[in-house]
This record gives sequence, C-alpha cells and structure tokens, in this order.
Amino acid sequence: MVNRKHICQSIIETCLKMNALGLNQGTSGNISARYQDGFLITPSGVPYERLTPDQIVYIKHDGKTEPDKVPSSEWHFHLSCYQARPELNAVVHNHAVNATAVSILNHSIPAIHYMVAVTGTDHIPYSTFGTPELAKSVKEGIRYSNALLMQHHGMIAMEANLEKALWLANEVEILAKLYLKILPVVGNDIGNAAKNIPILSSEEMQRILTKFKNYGLKTQ
Ligand SMILES: [Zn+2]
Repeated sequence: MVNRKHICQSIIETCLKMNALGLNQGTSGNISARYQDGFLITPSGVPYERLTPDQIVYIKHDGKTEPDKVPSSEWHFHLSCYQARPELNAVVHNHAVNATAVSILNHSIPAIHYMVAVTGTDHIPYSTFGTPELAKSVKEGIRYSNALLMQHHGMIAMEANLEKALWLANEVEILAKLYLKILPVVGNDIGNAAKNIPILSSEEMQRILTKFKNYGLKTQ
C-alpha cells in the first residue's frame, strides 16, 4: 500500500510542475489525491516552494479535517469530485489564464479539436458559480467529464493519478487557448462567434472517444 508520505511528496512535486507549466497564478491553485476513505490536499496559503509533506492535510469522506491543519479553502469541490467519481484518484485545480477566460464567457468548449476527447466526452463543460450551487454543479459536471471550467473561477481536472490529472489540466489550458484564438476570427459577438466555429461532428467525436478508451492515453 502506498504510504501517506509518498502521496504527499507526489502532491508537492505535482504542484511544482504545475507552476513550471505556468498553469498556476500565485497561490490560487490546489491539488489533492485520494487516500484511505478521504483525500490529501494542499494547505491554505503556503507557497509550493516551501511545502513539506507534513503540511498536506487529510480530509475524511465526511468533510472532517485532521486537527491543527488548515486545508485549502476550496476543499469542498475536491470532496464533490471524489464522491462523484470513485474510480478516479487525483484532482488538479487552478486559475490558468486561458481556461479561466473561457469560464468567464460562460459556455463550454465544443469539439473544436479531437483532443477535446481527453475529457472523456465531446466538449469541456462549465459549472455554475455560487457557493451552494458550485458543489452540486461540480458533482454533476465531473460525473461525465474529467475536466470542468468553473464559471468566473478556473478549471478542475480529475484523473486516475496525479501525473495524469496535471497532464489533463495542461491539455485543457491548451484547448482553451486555441478556442480563444478562434473566437475573434469568426466574429465579434460572442454568442454568434461561438455558433460559427466549425466543430467535429458527434460521429467523429464518438469514434475518437472510443479509440481513446480502448488504447488509453499515455502520460509519459
Ligand atoms: Zn480556485
């Protein structure tokens, strides 16, 4: 069985890699991994460079935090993710600029590129802003898509392990960047521009999704 210290170390390494990829903005991101009947998550307000394994916080499935430790204030939606997807084990959240910019536009990223299928569906959905609505909306969204844009906030990527979750977060950011690059080409009015973007047909996306499922995605 993987021990706690090893997972905590992996969380810290993933945080540092997220910084290196330029996905994180300040200390706004947070990362967690499933552990026992709950999950381990980064603490509140500690810069990643100074993080040590003993500062990572364990939260039980009922939301109880271990004493004397303060988890990231955003732990609630991590809990929603673990409840919604028992087969997945890691969550990466950040406010990456392009993904967050699309989240402000309040619509999903459609099938503009075959790589959208990395989410396990044919678009990247967004979840609704607002405290009580957020947990519910995240739960609903993450149930069918491994990545979500959080309205006026940022993104969530959930995968089988930390390495894959970070890889997915980076792919989402690239797709968001691509989407923002296309929007002004097809029109100034956001509603119409979004409608005018050429997208892959649902048959094509279905074929790609099946292929991704059968062959799996390698992260290294
Ligand atoms: Zn956030």
